Amino acid sequence: MRARTLIAKNGADRVSDLTRQPQQNQGNGLDLEPRSWGLTVLESVAVQRGREAASRMRPAPALIDTRPIPGPTNVSAARFMAKVECTEDGHWIWTASANEGGYGQFNLGGSVFRAHRVAWTWRNGEQIPSGLAIDHLCGIPACIRPDHLEAVTQRGNLLRGDTVTADSASRDRC
Ligand SMILES: [Zn+2]
Repeated sequence: MRARTLIAKNGADRVSDLTRQPQQNQGNGLDLEPRSWGLTVLESVAVQRGREAASRMRPAPALIDTRPIPGPTNVSAARFMAKVECTEDGHWIWTASANEGGYGQFNLGGSVFRAHRVAWTWRNGEQIPSGLAIDHLCGIPACIRPDHLEAVTQRGNLLRGDTVTADSASRDRC
């Protein structure tokens, strides 16, 4: 009976030792609950990284570029066409830098534009109508041949997707 009381007392002491420790840390100005501060920091980092990843992964074709494209000059038109090679099946392939989607990029007046948008604008002599995207009828992002391009609503552009193949392209040589 006496021994059992001692054991119980010792057990109680151990429990109070365990529970007393965090209480001794209170009042030093720090939140010592690792779950709360740890998750808060990690979550804020994760949220920030998620935002950055989302902005990187936004597909280029889904964005409508609303910047006006400067008209061609003899110099810029020659510089533009110097970056183009024609394929036997009639595509005008951009050979200079391309973005991650495979769309050619052209530096014009200090700004970088997608080459197929420049080609459409110059061929048509007008800016791309507001709200429209320039779609590839031939399905080849690097192709800038103006008659392989069509101004469509963005929805139409996304719906068309992979269903169009190079087979639909004109067989004319450039
Ligand atoms: Zn083409």
